[in-house]
Amino acid sequence: MMKSNIEEALELLSKNWKIEPVIQDFILGKKTNVSDFQIKVNGVIFHIPYLTDEDGYVLWKCYWPDCHNCCNRQGRLPLTSSDLIIISKNLKYDKVSDFVKKETNIATWEEKGPAGNSVVMTMINLKRKDDEKETDDGTHIKCRFLDERGYCGLHPSRPGVCYLYPFSSWLENEKGKARVHATFQFTGDCPGFYFAKSHDAMKDVLLEYSKMIYDYTMNSNRTTRENFGYVSM
Ligand code: SF4
Ligand code: SF4
Repeated sequence: MMKSNIEEALELLSKNWKIEPVIQDFILGKKTNVSDFQIKVNGVIFHIPYLTDEDGYVLWKCYWPDCHNCCNRQGRLPLTSSDLIIISKNLKYDKVSDFVKKETNIATWEEKGPAGNSVVMTMINLKRKDDEKETDDGTHIKCRFLDERGYCGLHPSRPGVCYLYPFSSWLENEKGKARVHATFQFTGDCPGFYFAKSHDAMKDVLLEYSKMIYDYTMNSNRTTRENFGYVSM
């Protein structure tokens, strides 16, 4: 049987990081008894997986600077309109249009929406290598801005999706009121996921990420038909 992209990514990751078996199984979809635990922090509804059989949660922490796997295996970097302005300034472009012409590609791809529906996305993506073509979109390559110490050359004006990772977020229109939701992306590329009996350990992370996720999602120009905006890395 052919290996899935996630399986391949996890195998690569396991060469350098110890991933708990329960987390491996969960990421590979082998845990079926999973429920959606929701925590609201600063206006963001976080969806945390709760493993019923194990009676515990799938949580996350970042190992940077010891890890920069997300930048090493970057799939695509969709930019919001504020990303375009900030990053073009950082790269010393006088005109955003010149930046768009030289440093970005237009990409169209399909991804799963928050309701499990299929959503077609068309976005301006930052090139991850100088000679990147539209056909390279979605492939996992080392981002050109990552330096040998693991620092991002664009920081602090790196794309919003880089700040968000490994969260993805979406905007829900609930009877005319905007609600921001966030959940983890499980691509098999991040060693930061771990199993815990209590979700207390995530409190500080959720507090730190909530404001950023809220602002990013409310300002994001990623919109789709059913009144959803869906953002991910
Ligand atoms: S988000 Fe995950 S992959 Fe990226 S640096 Fe942190 S631990 Fe590593
Ligand atoms: S822009 Fe920076 S943070 Fe984003 S993938 Fe590239 S190196 Fe990593």
